[in-house]
Amino acid sequence: MSRTILVGDSGSGKTTLVERLETDTFNASALATIGVDYRVFQDLSGNSVKCWDTAGAERFRAVMSLYYRNADFCILVFDASRRLGMKSVPKWASEVRAHAPTARIFLVGNKIDWGQSACETEEAIALAQELGFVGVAFLSAKHMKRAEILPLIQP
Ligand code: GDP
Ligand code: MG
Repeated sequence: MSRTILVGDSGSGKTTLVERLETDTFNASALATIGVDYRVFQDLSGNSVKCWDTAGAERFRAVMSLYYRNADFCILVFDASRRLGMKSVPKWASEVRAHAPTARIFLVGNKIDWGQSACETEEAIALAQELGFVGVAFLSAKHMKRAEILPLIQP
């Protein structure tokens, strides 16, 4: 089972996204107390993806270094509805690279239901290329269906 992690600023929509993608729910209350949580969902090929979410731990760097370990895929979420939403993307990318050097990083601009300018889209695509990400997608975890979102997040 591939180990995927979600990273990004608190409030960017990571938990909303993984809840949208999940098919199985685990009672992860014990994990939540240490600041992490996971969901399992099926990708388009029917493979199970174990996707870790931070349960608010993105503020605690000590917890996060354990969280990154052995990740092979990383979904880096930013809030595309905020002008400065992309600002911390390079910081998150270097954190991931420091702790999970082989993880492929995929950039997600979330909350496009609030509107998104073409200029910001180009900026995000350029940044993704510059930072060596494997792809970029723009979506709304709140308003789009799982079947619309899954094809966009292709490693
Ligand atoms: P996290 O801290 O990264 O896990 O972010 P959450 O998933 O908790 O989301 C933070 C807030 O943003 C919540 O109020 C969500 O309902 C809201 N939110 C998440 N995704 C979207 C989206 O696509 N569109 C809109 N409008 N709100 C969203
Ligand atoms: Mg969360």
